[in-house]
Parts: sequence; structure tokens; C-alpha cells
Amino acid sequence: MHSPLNRDVPVYVAGHTGLVGSACVRLLRRRGFTRVVTASSAELDLRDHEATAGFLRRHRPEVVLLAAARVGGIAANHAAPADFLSDNLRIQLSIMDAARALRIPRLLFLGSSCIYPRDCPQPIHESVLLSGPLEPTNEAYAVAKIAGVTQVSSVRRQDGLPWISAMPTNLYGPGDSFDPERSHVLPALLRKFDEAVREDAGTVTVWGTGTPRREFLHVDDLAEACLTLLEHYDDDSPVNVGTGEDLTIAALAELVAATVGFRGRIAFDPRRPDGTPRKVLDISTIRALGWAPRIGLAEGLRSTYAWYRGAQEVVVR
Ligand code: GDP
Repeated sequence: MHSPLNRDVPVYVAGHTGLVGSACVRLLRRRGFTRVVTASSAELDLRDHEATAGFLRRHRPEVVLLAAARVGGIAANHAAPADFLSDNLRIQLSIMDAARALRIPRLLFLGSSCIYPRDCPQPIHESVLLSGPLEPTNEAYAVAKIAGVTQVSSVRRQDGLPWISAMPTNLYGPGDSFDPERSHVLPALLRKFDEAVREDAGTVTVWGTGTPRREFLHVDDLAEACLTLLEHYDDDSPVNVGTGEDLTIAALAELVAATVGFRGRIAFDPRRPDGTPRKVLDISTIRALGWAPRIGLAEGLRSTYAWYRGAQEVVVR
């Protein structure tokens, strides 16, 4: 079992401009970490093995939070599977190879709940990893993430470094991508319904049948979970991080409509893919470590919507 981290150790947050990385940096600073190391993609291309090794040699972090990844929603994954596979494999490999060569003692790799088999029992327990076929709409991304989890457990076994992996459910919050074609469902719907209110449109069309079920976790809750795991978890198995509760896409659409004040009609477009029917996580492992989600979906939607509107105003100005 790990112990609390010294607030003066250098902590490298890979992917600090993304949804997850930015939340982790906010939390670390709030908790008094004085040496949070970051590099923008302009300064460091994490797909570049040599450049990444040089960066880690220069900064010598004692903790690596690997939150860098190419991510996107169901359409983006469908459109560019080769990019999702290649970029994610290269990012993970450069960081973990460099961290291994330097024997960096703590590393947290972030995967995703889509790594579990498509038709596994719900809620999904960590032990079902690699027990069946994957959901085809994000198979390339999932295979890359499974390779990352396997790299962590292999380094643990071969080198004795106490690295760990976490598997977050669908995340949302400030700093998310709101791109209508490429983003995940929650930001996509916030944007669609917001635009509908502004344009006085009578109908909003939601992709798919509305029947798939998804679980949503606010990214600030994930950041707390990451710190909990870095300080209190040391085991081979990845750890699920979610709320343990899900809802249908149709119910999410209703909630988003209520959040932004849309009173029109919600239509569904079944020509768009549904993806996996359900993926709700069993979160008993992380709950046993004392972590629990704190931000409910209605509250999280309200604050994320406020953040989105604020960001829009900055763009307009
Ligand atoms: P997934 O969890 O990997 O399937 O990724 P997404 O967050 O992209 O999609 C979740 C579900 O929401 C799927 O069933 C989508 O068809 C559905 N969905 C409904 N409307 C939208 C939308 O506007 N954008 C996205 N990305 N998904 C949508």
C-alpha cells in the first residue's frame, strides 16, 4: 500500500490541456503540490519516443499521471480508427518506456471503460477484462488502452515498479470538447440544445435510438480518484472509476434539455450508431479505498453548461 505523497515531489501531468489532465492539475495545485510539471503539445510531441525520453530525463518526475491520449466520441472513433490506435500506442509507449528507464516510482495510467468486452455482465467488474470481444465502434482505441494496462502490469512484474491503472467511465466537465461531430454525447447534447434555444428551433435530433445506457462522471471527481489511487492503491488490477449509476441517452437528453431550458421536441436518428448497449462500472474497489463521487449529474450538467457559456462568450468577444 502506498502512502501520502510529499507535496514537494515533481509530478508530471501528461495531457494537462485536456479534460482529465487540466482537472488533475487544478486538484494538485489546490492540494498544495508545488512542482507540477507540464508540457504543451507544441513543446513536446508525446508520440516522439526520443523527445519524450529527453523531457523526462530533464525533469525527473517522481510521479507520472498519464492523462494524455487521443480521445473522441463514437463518430470520431469510427472515422479515424488508425489514428486512435497509432497515436495512443505511441503516446503510452514513449512515456512508459522513458519512465521505466528512469525507474520513476509512481505512474498512473488512465484507460477507459470501453476496454471491457461489449457483452459483459453489468455492472462491470475489473476482472472481466480480456474475457470477450470488444464493441466494434471503438475497438482500435480500446486495444491501444488495453496495451497500456498490460504495459503497466508487465512493468510491475518485470521491474517491480508499483505502477497502477485506472479505468474511468464516460467523463465530462470544464475543458471538454464541444465539437458537434467529434465530441462525446454529453457535451454534444449541451451544445445542440443550447443552439436550439438560441435559434428558437422546435426539434433537437439525438443520434441513435436513445436506448443505450451510459454512466457519467464529473472530471473533478475523477481527479480526486486519481490522487486517492496514487496515494493508497498498489495492485496489478486496473481500478474502475465511475458513479455506478447509468441512464439512457433519452433520459440524458431530457436532463440536458431541462438544464439549458429547451422546451421543444426531442427526436432520434437511428441511422446513427448506438454503440455498446450498456457499460456501467462496478466501483466497489475504489469505494473500499474511501473515494466516492460527489458531483451529481444534474449539478455537474449545470456547472459544465455555465463553463461552456462562459467559454462561448470569450470566443465571441
Ligand atoms: P460511446 O460512449 O463510446 O458510445 O461514445 P459517445 O459519448 O460518443 O456516445 C454515447 C451514445 O450517445 C451513443 O449511443 C451515441 O449514439 C449517443 N449520442 C446521441 N447523440 C449524440 C451526439 O450528438 N454525439 C455523440 N457523440 N453521441 C451521441
